[in-house]
Amino acid sequence: MSFKRFNRVGVIFFLFLSLSLVSFSSEKNDSFQIGEIKVAPGESKSGNLSVPEKNGISSFIPVTIINGSKKGKVLALVAGVHGYEYPPVLALYRMKKMIDPQTLSGTIIMVHIANIPAFQKRIIYYNPFDWKNLNRVFPGNPEGTLCQRIAYVLTEEVIKKCDFLIDLHCGDGNEALIPYTYWMASGDEETNEISKKMVLAFGIKYIIIDKTRTKDITDSKYLGNTAVLHSKPAITTESGYLGKTDEVSIVRNIKGILGVMKLFRMIEGDPDLVSDPVWIDHYQVVYSEHDGLFYPQTTMGYYVTQGQKVGYITDYFGNIREELRAPFSGIVLYVINTPPISKGEPLFEVGSVKEK
Ligand SMILES: [Zn+2]
Repeated sequence: MSFKRFNRVGVIFFLFLSLSLVSFSSEKNDSFQIGEIKVAPGESKSGNLSVPEKNGISSFIPVTIINGSKKGKVLALVAGVHGYEYPPVLALYRMKKMIDPQTLSGTIIMVHIANIPAFQKRIIYYNPFDWKNLNRVFPGNPEGTLCQRIAYVLTEEVIKKCDFLIDLHCGDGNEALIPYTYWMASGDEETNEISKKMVLAFGIKYIIIDKTRTKDITDSKYLGNTAVLHSKPAITTESGYLGKTDEVSIVRNIKGILGVMKLFRMIEGDPDLVSDPVWIDHYQVVYSEHDGLFYPQTTMGYYVTQGQKVGYITDYFGNIREELRAPFSGIVLYVINTPPISKGEPLFEVGSVKEK
């Protein structure tokens, strides 16, 4: 394909995409339902999605549906997949009060805390009933462990009922992390292009181009990836770190969500697209090979060169067991900042910036 021809096809595709994103209408909306929660147009309602009981263990997922009076897109906002990641959770409670269903076009599904058992017990990564990572067990299983059942409910009631999805994360209780987003390019061309617009509208400068996610819909692993494989454009965002509830991280989440709502014409205004994105086209998470204590020797957001020392691990007697070095030159997207470390757990993530 010649460059000229590619350009022409690109322009036509872009125009098509732009038109398909414009959904402003004065047409009256319909009622909207997920689980037992049914909401009339122009109203907002909160309730729990129930996670089925097995072996005496059940759970619930608190959600709010804001159903606009005017027809439009359905945007799902999911917080609390990891129970120690607070700014997205707090951002959604603020937004619940900010968004007026009378002026909203379309529908917002807010999942306030996807992983209630982890939140209640203040646990990083895992769910205390099965010690699985909820963001590795999608699309879930109605007969599986608690995490798998939570994932199943989210797949059936949230992913399948939305048009677009944002999976809102941040550095976990132990992770010093700079704000960044994942553009998961594992879907079809149109889904990927809309997802790309979503990362730009969310407004965070550092964007990982993620082509590593599986395309197997029966073992999609991640919430966002599951949405993408269902042809629902989706992004994963990271804003916040070390279990903090800082204002800057909360506001960054709110501004990001408002940007995406503008992109889809759910509220008035144009999104502030990132004007100077830093595209990261290669990233690697380095995992621990030992149990013990981790001592970081770099800081989130620092640039490290290949082979540079990033930290070391000692055993429980204080003897050095392993030195960690950067696998290639790049930005430290996150680094563990609390001492406990277990074999197989992440230590840090490096991303290299895409050459122009
Ligand atoms: Zn997370």
